[in-house]
This record gives sequence, C-alpha cells and structure tokens, in this order.
Amino acid sequence: MIAGAGLGGLATALRLAKKGHKVTIVEKNQTAGGRLNVITKDGFTFDSGPSFFAMSYEFKEFAADCGIELPFEYTELDPLYTVNFLRNGKTYKLYKDLKKLSAQFADTEPDFEQKMKAYLKKGGELFHDTIAPVVKSNHDSKFAYIKKLAQVPFRHLPTLPRNFWTQVAKYFKTQDAREIISLVSFFLGRTPFDTPAVYTLLSYTEFIHDGYFNVKGGMYGIVKGILRELELAGVSIKYNVEIVDFEADCNRLTALIDKNGTRHSADAIVVNADAAVFRGKILKRPKFTEKKLDKLKWTMGPLTIYLGVSSKLTNIDHHNYFLGSNYREYAQKVFTDPSKLEKPYYCHVNLQMTLHCPTDECRSVETFHRPIGHGNVRRDLT
Ligand SMILES: Cc1cc2nc3c(=O)[nH]c(=O)nc-3n(C[C@H](O)[C@H](O)[C@H](O)COP(=O)(O)OP(=O)(O)OC[C@H]3O[C@@H](n4cnc5c(N)ncnc54)[C@H](O)[C@@H]3O)c2cc1C
Repeated sequence: MIAGAGLGGLATALRLAKKGHKVTIVEKNQTAGGRLNVITKDGFTFDSGPSFFAMSYEFKEFAADCGIELPFEYTELDPLYTVNFLRNGKTYKLYKDLKKLSAQFADTEPDFEQKMKAYLKKGGELFHDTIAPVVKSNHDSKFAYIKKLAQVPFRHLPTLPRNFWTQVAKYFKTQDAREIISLVSFFLGRTPFDTPAVYTLLSYTEFIHDGYFNVKGGMYGIVKGILRELELAGVSIKYNVEIVDFEADCNRLTALIDKNGTRHSADAIVVNADAAVFRGKILKRPKFTEKKLDKLKWTMGPLTIYLGVSSKLTNIDHHNYFLGSNYREYAQKVFTDPSKLEKPYYCHVNLQMTLHCPTDECRSVETFHRPIGHGNVRRDLT
C-alpha cells in the first residue's frame, strides 16, 4: 500500500505493480497528482505546480524499468527562460547555444563565452562526481552522509565551503551575468547566498547535460499518462482517504488508519506524503513535533496568481523572470522578514501555451509567482 498519490507515489506504485506486487494507493484528496496538479476556472485550465521539468533521462529510465513507452509527450525548451532587468531595461534569453547566449554580453562581458565554458566544465565535474555517491544515494544519518561526501574527489574541496553566489562571482564580472547564472538557486526555494556552491552543477544540467522540458497538453499529462498505466497494471486508488494514525507491530508498520477510523492494512506500506509532517503528526516521532519543525530552516514557497487573459499575448516567452535591483536585500529578508521588503526582487511570469483555453483561438493563460518566505515567517501579503 502507498499513502499519497503524488508523482512519487504513482511512480512507485507502477514500479511495484510491474514487479508483480498487488498495490493500492490511498490519497486524501479527490484527485491524483499532489503538487503536480491543475486548477480549472471559467474554462481556463492552469498547471498549478510544476511548469517544466529537467533530467528527462529519469523519466526514460522509469519507463524502461516498467517496460512501457513513456506515457506522455514532451518538448525541449530553448531558450530555457528569459530574464528582464528593471534597473537597466535589458532582456536576456538563456539560449542553450553558448554563442547565441554570449552574443548578448558582447558589450558588457566580451569574454563571456570562455568564462561560461569554464564555469560549466566545473559544474559538469561536480555533477558527475557527486550524482552517484551523494545525490542518488540514501543517507540514513549525518555520519552516513559525511562518509559519502568523503568519496567526492579531493579537487572539489575548495568549492565545498563556498556558496552559489561566490562560485559564480569567481567566473563572471558583471552583476547581470552573476544574477542570471545564479537565478537557478531560487528554483530550489533558496537564494544564491545560502545555497552551497556544489549546486552550481544545476547550471550544467540546464545548459549541457539535459535542459528543460514542457509536456504536450500541460504538465498534468504526466499524471494522466501514469494513471492510465496504473489502471492497466491493476493498481487501485482510493481517494478522499486521509491517514491520521497507524498501527505497528514491533517497529513494523502494519496498518494506516484514516480520519473515519477505517483501518487499511498491508504487508508493506510506503508513505509518499510530506515526510516531516507525516513523521510528526501521524507517526508521532518526537524529533518531528510541530515545535521542532517550526525551528528548522525551511525553503521558501511562492505566492501565485493564476490569470486567464481574454486576448493572445505576444512578445512574451514561456518562462519570464522580472528582476528588481535589491538582490542582496531581498535574499536576506525574504526568509527573516518579508513584510519589510517594499518590492519583490523577483517575479516569475509563466505563459502556459499548451493548456486548454475556452475557445480554439487560444487565449493566454499565465501564472505569476513571487517567492515569499516559508510558512514559519509571519507576513502581511496585502
Ligand atoms: C508552485 C510549485 C511549482 C513547482 N514547480 C516545479 C517545476 O517547475 N519543476 C519541477 O520539477 N518541480 C516543481 N515543483 C516541485 C514538484 O511539484 C514536486 O517536487 C513534486 O510534485 C512532488 O511530488 P511528491 O509525490 O513527492 O509529493 P506530493 O506531490 O506532495 O504528493 C504527496 C501526496 O500525498 C498526499 N497526502 C499527504 N498527506 C496525506 C495523508 N495524511 N493521507 C493521505 N494522503 C496524503 C497529498 O495529498 C499528495 O497527493 C513545484 C512545486 C510547486 C508547489
């Protein structure tokens, strides 16, 4: 049995079913997808969570492991995204072609192409040297994590204590280049000033190793595709089942209890709900009480506005970032006191061209994201 029909739960269910297990999923909501979901209003359909994905080879590996064709179609995004600066009115398109990318810096940073190649070479080394021992490994304790880190080649030692920003600043001179290249750290829900430099491997995954991809018909196509495969594999999903308690036999989870008191038992149970909340509220582990969770440093979430526009918008790409002039101040205050920030530094407009609109003459569907602090920070969002 799997608790949680998010992408992780659905993928795990299909892998297990294909290995011959009888699988049931229990989900508290009335639909599958979790954070990868859709909102429908007045004929417009919005992707409510992810708007693109990276590391497409993970999906290919998943399909191959399950012995299926990938159950959705996707297209590559190039440029990856567009960055607009308020302070100088400049717009940069992040092309994967380094010559096209560098041409935009011809006046301000003429040796941009060489610098970018050197920066990406280092990012590539970090990626290939950490992906197997660290990123794709389980770490059951801090000690286990440190042991895995010790397998990372010695040559990366000087990079490890740096943050994303200092690593980028080592290669690039202008503020525009530094901000554009370090922007990807916001995708992690952090800022360049508190993200470890090892994450500059993301620049390599963006530009060289793979890129970003959009799903034809909208991101929810991933969920719909996997649901079709689950049905064929005989997996059943019980919706509106919220787990609130559990039963265990000598440290082995034997059953989950839902909010109506129904007991769901299984030989093996996989939980794919929010790990910290589930461990605290449902499994009642002392390390995860609400008080202790409140003290942890959380990544940030966005304030999102979904907007259906009744005309076609032109001159706007699929992912557009509008950056202000308060980079450091924003990064410092967004976690501690976002209400003191007069302006957002960063606003992300995502034009969803692939989703359904009310008429065939497709109107524009957009989402505006503005990163805000996490739930622990009191803030006035007016
Ligand atoms: C606004 C936003 C934008 C994002 N953009 C991107 C992007 O562009 N690209 C990208 O790759 N990723 C993006 N992400 C991240 C991505 O959406 C998530 O990493 C991914 O969807 C998580 O899947 P999951 O299965 O691990 O968890 P979830 O989707 O959270 O699934 C957990 C499931 O468990 C269920 N559940 C929880 N508690 C219980 C309970 N007690 N009983 C029963 N069921 C329970 C939930 O209802 C949910 O369905 C974005 C996320 C958000 C929120």
